[in-house]
Amino acid sequence: MLHIVACIKQVPDTKIIKMNPKTNTMDRASAPAILNPYDAHAVEEAVRLKKRYGGTVSVLTMGPPPAVKAIKKCIEIGADAGYMISDRAFAGADTLATSYALTKAIEKISKIKPVDLIICGKMTIDGDTGQVGPGIARRLDMPPLTSVNKVKEINVKEGYAVVHRKLEDGYEVIQSTMPCLMSVEKEINEVPYSSMSNMLKAARYQPIIWAVADLEDVDRPQLGLKGSPTIVSKVWAPTKPSGGTMLEGDAAQQSQQLLNILLEKKELFAVKGGSGVEF
Ligand SMILES: Cc1cc2nc3c(=O)[nH]c(=O)nc-3n(C[C@H](O)[C@H](O)[C@H](O)COP(=O)(O)OP(=O)(O)OC[C@H]3O[C@@H](n4cnc5c(N)ncnc54)[C@H](O)[C@@H]3O)c2cc1C
Repeated sequence: MLHIVACIKQVPDTKIIKMNPKTNTMDRASAPAILNPYDAHAVEEAVRLKKRYGGTVSVLTMGPPPAVKAIKKCIEIGADAGYMISDRAFAGADTLATSYALTKAIEKISKIKPVDLIICGKMTIDGDTGQVGPGIARRLDMPPLTSVNKVKEINVKEGYAVVHRKLEDGYEVIQSTMPCLMSVEKEINEVPYSSMSNMLKAARYQPIIWAVADLEDVDRPQLGLKGSPTIVSKVWAPTKPSGGTMLEGDAAQQSQQLLNILLEKKELFAVKGGSGVEF
């Protein structure tokens, strides 16, 4: 039976979050923590595959204790089981250390029930790198199928999956061996409202929580800040662009206004002593 692990992360709602103007860092307390929106699509796809082929959906997160809420959200969507790895030793992890810790957890989950498919979101809305999924695939020596916007077929018995990968000008069809890892685009599905029975199940659900000591064969220096070679040299908030000018009237009038603006800019440019721009 198909066993899918969906990797999910709790993130601050970046539509609401404020920046601390003094430190130029995110004021995480200023925004509610939500399930990373891309990961909701990953879980929804896993649940749809379970309905198509039968099987089990487990979700996995690395995060602090409040991340249990994100797991409960996945149970609402239809996941069967939730695993969380949470330990101070994981703190300060970059994508390399995150993928290492998650890989160790997936290895442990595989011992409970062999994993056929791992599904990640395309990226998170706070870190935004899209590196964790391919990082896990590399460590587990699985094919990484990125930018997946349709799962056409899964054949566990014969050990292959067929997917559509989004390209700039269309899509390509890929057949991969399984187990494999997919990171999925938002348009792969619509996440519907949860059923009342799933919501009740989620309210009561308690995930399995592991600390570092519960994982096997862990090379501790590869965890957390120690295992993170990424250096953040500077963080700053982008300045808001100043308001533009709205061009009025029909196309001819708008073209004239645009020309006037460009000529005005040329004069300014000439006063500053610039050269090299021809109108
Ligand atoms: C030096 C440094 C220190 C950092 N310290 C911290 C810290 O203390 N606390 C902190 O929260 N962040 C910290 N970060 C940010 C952290 O590295 C990233 O948020 C994390 O590695 C995931 O990367 P991402 O957000 O770019 O995920 P992406 O690579 O964009 O995520 C792709 C997909 O991978 C999966 N995924 C990503 N992260 C997780 C996760 N944690 N659990 C399960 N699945 C996941 C999801 O499916 C997600 O959609 C730090 C970053 C750096 C560079």
